[in-house]
Amino acid sequence: MSIVSVIGQDQALDRLQQALRSQRVPHGYIFHGPAGVGKELCAREFAKILLCANRQKRQRDGQDVFDCCDSCDSCRAVQADVHPDYTIVYREQIRELRPEQNDNGSGRTKAHKATALAIDVIREKLNKPAQLTSAYGRGKVFVVREIHLANVHAQNALLKTLEEPPDGTVLILLADRLEGLLPTVLSRSQMVMFAPLGRDFLLERLTQSGCKQPQSGFWSRFADGSLGRALWLAEQDWYQAKIALVERLARLTDQDAVELAELCIDLAKSYSAQARKQGSAVSDTVAKQRMYGFLLAVVSNFYRDLMLSASGAAPAEWINSDQESALKQAAKALSLLQASRAVALVGRAEYLISKNVNANLVFEDLFGDLAVISCKTLVA
Ligand SMILES: [Zn+2]
Repeated sequence: MSIVSVIGQDQALDRLQQALRSQRVPHGYIFHGPAGVGKELCAREFAKILLCANRQKRQRDGQDVFDCCDSCDSCRAVQADVHPDYTIVYREQIRELRPEQNDNGSGRTKAHKATALAIDVIREKLNKPAQLTSAYGRGKVFVVREIHLANVHAQNALLKTLEEPPDGTVLILLADRLEGLLPTVLSRSQMVMFAPLGRDFLLERLTQSGCKQPQSGFWSRFADGSLGRALWLAEQDWYQAKIALVERLARLTDQDAVELAELCIDLAKSYSAQARKQGSAVSDTVAKQRMYGFLLAVVSNFYRDLMLSASGAAPAEWINSDQESALKQAAKALSLLQASRAVALVGRAEYLISKNVNANLVFEDLFGDLAVISCKTLVA
């Protein structure tokens, strides 16, 4: 693997090449863009170039680009995640630093949830090792995953290294979004934007991974340009659940609301049970949240498709083009305004679920409200 094989992120790669050409690589980068579009892969390949003993020039689209040799000790060590000067910093490391946390003063302890990137992780895994001398003498690279999940304290701690980095130290902060990042962190970092990947590219990679049509086509449209998400979804075997849900949504009445809510709750329960059986590290709550998130995305995309349809977009542009006739049927009953109201309702449900509001209530309310929108139209 080398940087010339990173596909679909030309703008980001150009930005990094400019820095290499000018020999002025900034101390701080923020790679930002949706999850699963290649930010970490690109960070690792860039780190390999920075730390390589035999940096190369190669051709990419007719242009000279800097690349690593991919065969020296340094390149191989980064690739194997054992390079002493290449460090990945991530929120789950809190479990290694503080194996257990107190449960609200009850005296009991339990595994750390690690939902945020904690200050202790930044101090122990970044600030302290950044002060040590580079083992190979070619600088150090720190890649910080999910910086958007760092709280204010953790970000302030990070500033210590970002403001006065030891010579040759490069910090690459990976962010799915920029909201919540301190202005001081933003202003001391060079921004590199990663765009969502094209549907054709996702389809090609899904096909290579063994996923077949119509599933591969659907996941390539549904994954919001994220290869990581597309591959993960394809692995989950959730396609039949989406087909059933879309069929039900297409002929939704208020009698269906309770039953549909139950269906969603049952799907989440069986997914969390399955995850537990397979020895997954995620908690029951997180597993259920994932299924709820998926189902709400299905509902949201269903109404987005109806908006597209009402605006005259061809079925090929719909996310659910694999269920064209169900969508066409539903589109007859809903105006653009009503479909956009429905999307807003789903957004509200997504927010409530993220705040751990009782999922039963959230889904019942949602399907009830959506049925009202659809039924009013039928009466009118
Ligand atoms: Zn090398």
